[in-house]
Amino acid sequence: MTHAVTVLGATGSIGCSTLDVIARHPERYRVFALTAATRAEKLAEQVLQHVPQYAVMKDDAGADAVRCLLPQDHPTTVLSGAEALSWVAAHEETDMVMAAIVGAAGLLPSLAAAQAGKRVLLANKEALVMAGPLFMDAIRDGGAELLPIDSEHNAIFQSMPERYDGHFAPHGISKILLTASGGPFRGWQADQLADVTPAEAVAHPNWTMGQKISVDSATLMNKGLELIEACFLFNCQPEQIQVVVHPQSVIHSLVQYCDGSVIAQLGEPDMRTPIAYALAWPERMTSGVAPLDLVTIGRFDFEAADEHTFPCLSLARRAFMAGGTMPAVLNAANEIAVEAFLGERIPFNTIPMLVQQVMDAHKVEAMTSLENVLLADQWARRQAHQLLQGSVNEVDA
Ligand code: NDP
Ligand code: MG
Repeated sequence: MTHAVTVLGATGSIGCSTLDVIARHPERYRVFALTAATRAEKLAEQVLQHVPQYAVMKDDAGADAVRCLLPQDHPTTVLSGAEALSWVAAHEETDMVMAAIVGAAGLLPSLAAAQAGKRVLLANKEALVMAGPLFMDAIRDGGAELLPIDSEHNAIFQSMPERYDGHFAPHGISKILLTASGGPFRGWQADQLADVTPAEAVAHPNWTMGQKISVDSATLMNKGLELIEACFLFNCQPEQIQVVVHPQSVIHSLVQYCDGSVIAQLGEPDMRTPIAYALAWPERMTSGVAPLDLVTIGRFDFEAADEHTFPCLSLARRAFMAGGTMPAVLNAANEIAVEAFLGERIPFNTIPMLVQQVMDAHKVEAMTSLENVLLADQWARRQAHQLLQGSVNEVDA
């Protein structure tokens, strides 16, 4: 029997790697639905290759563009809009959902997949950062399976005891070691960062990824978001996680045990490994990734993260500790700041400043419902935009 897979964010970096892995195993997987926002040509190409039952574009114009690129009698139904995204993610004929939309836009369809009891392959870390407790409850209540795709979290998952139940002590776990490449500006000082361009920021030394996560890697916000992601996924606190910079990006993360053992997962920096792992779990299957050659790599280096030059990591820790709606605010402010940086409207060093200012102005609320997460997200976006325009309305906070 083949498993039906929905790929949310199919045209992105993770989406394309997922389809690459799936295409290697036609006897195990078939594509049920593919979704995208703007890249109609790319989605049409994927639809022609994988012939899913549904394709979903962000808006009607995009859906029309996809339809125009398909032969008239093509069997794929092309839909549009946010409701259609959640509908394909929760569809009874879908077994697995790759959640690979970037940013807050991925929250509702990822949550829909969780509530519908799917195997959720979670790349969209922003969804978990925004609404961690609600998301984890939805996974449990929906009877879903959550498999982390983020390479570090996938490595931690692989290095954890098989029956890990969310408690370190009974399993003899002392801490999680979360590795970071350090990004393209590792070792730089704040004054050197003042004039960096978007092109320099997205040129990651080891990974080829979408623009937003590439900028997040350069500011270390990616590691901050991952710290929060790990706290929710593995039910732990920030002080139980040590961030270790490892520039080669070969050790994808580690778990330290009380007897002195440290268990790690290693591999080429290629997302097809965690994707294949999560698709096939608890089995293993080929992914197309080259075997690791330690002799060629030669050495592993480690250093502490420079949280003074890259304050986003500390901001994320602070957001998690504040709890409630604060992680959603951190995430939303960061999305606006990254967009402004990529549009060359603010310098690189303004990203953490803007996030901090929005967080400072936020009055934390308990996370009681999805509505208050979405309200906090919208509030933080407005606040960030106002700050960018230099006109913050303090009463609005
Ligand atoms: P990309 O920017 O390459 O792809 C994003 C995908 O989401 C595209 O298919 C895009 O459509 C779609 N999308 C964007 N905005 C919307 C929206 N508003 N509504 C619906 N769909 C939308 O990102 P990545 O693949 O790099 O990253 C995806 C997620 O995975 C992120 O959360 C990232 O943090 C995470 N991740 C990525 C890794 C990587 O190696 N790339 C590693 C670990 C985690 P379109 O292209 O058509 O506009
Ligand atoms: Mg990662």
